[in-house]
Amino acid sequence: MTHFFAPVGSQDDFEEIGKLAPDSVSRLRIFEGETIEVSLWGGVGLRVTATPESSGCGIWISELPKAGDIRKFSVQGKRAGKWRIQTGDGGFFIENLSVGMDVIVESSRASQFASNIKLSPNGMSITNRRKWLTDVEAAMKKVKNNPVGLIVLNNLKKDVLIKPDTVDTTCNASASPGITIVITFVDASIDFTPSLCIGANPGNAPDEILVHEFIHQVEDNFSDYKNAPNGVTSAPMEFGDPNNSKYGCPDFMTLTITNVYSSMAGRKLRKDHVLYSELPDVYKNDAQKYFLEFQLNFISLQKRRNAIYGQLKLATAPWNPFRDPPPPPASP
Ligand SMILES: [Zn+2]
Repeated sequence: MTHFFAPVGSQDDFEEIGKLAPDSVSRLRIFEGETIEVSLWGGVGLRVTATPESSGCGIWISELPKAGDIRKFSVQGKRAGKWRIQTGDGGFFIENLSVGMDVIVESSRASQFASNIKLSPNGMSITNRRKWLTDVEAAMKKVKNNPVGLIVLNNLKKDVLIKPDTVDTTCNASASPGITIVITFVDASIDFTPSLCIGANPGNAPDEILVHEFIHQVEDNFSDYKNAPNGVTSAPMEFGDPNNSKYGCPDFMTLTITNVYSSMAGRKLRKDHVLYSELPDVYKNDAQKYFLEFQLNFISLQKRRNAIYGQLKLATAPWNPFRDPPPPPASP
């Protein structure tokens, strides 16, 4: 019996395995622009076409050199949609001899851990794409399993597109409103390459970087925090670019909430937005002091995003400046 099967190393891209033979595959999932190899067993002499056979088809197939009786094809995803590869002898009883495979071409794929977070590795090589998807999903899993990460995800009410960062060569990520939907704020994109973020320093593990960018999105890139709003500088802290007042300080809450997340994960706390250096002891050991010295920034968030503020107050993270100050000790 004729059947398609996956070349070695490509099994993860195929679905519906084993319907016709132990190694048969009946569905392929690829991204727009990708080319993947597919093998055909028992199909000598058959016609193999992409359907519909018209310019409307979103896949392109071409035959590669055979390996013995095994025929090989390259399949390129041209356009998002559900398409089909069909075999047959071209004769009247085509149904008796034919076997087909569905090809799903995607422009992005929803994360397994949040349906509004879409992953779009378009333009990467297949090997890099597989690793990128695995790495991003591993970070997403950590975010969702962390109670503070879950609070952030639950307050992220828009669709977010995560794409590979094609610019940076060190750990970085940026979040920006989507170009076509700036006005409605229903979509946003994050450029991100987790393999550059190795977690050696405070705040630069892949899941911490994602949480940081998600908070930017929850706040619609609010940027008017103050470095030391009360004029108190126990330790110099830079939450934005002090030389570019146009953009204000967008990173007080991304750093603060990510630190609550990191403390829940047992990781070190990050000082400010300049480097991945550690929060000074004076704040690390006294979250309430941090709260009091930057109180105006906390009030700012409470006014704009009361829901997430209230949920963070209840988080049981070891370091949590959102929590109410402890009651004074009872008098003897
Ligand atoms: Zn930031």
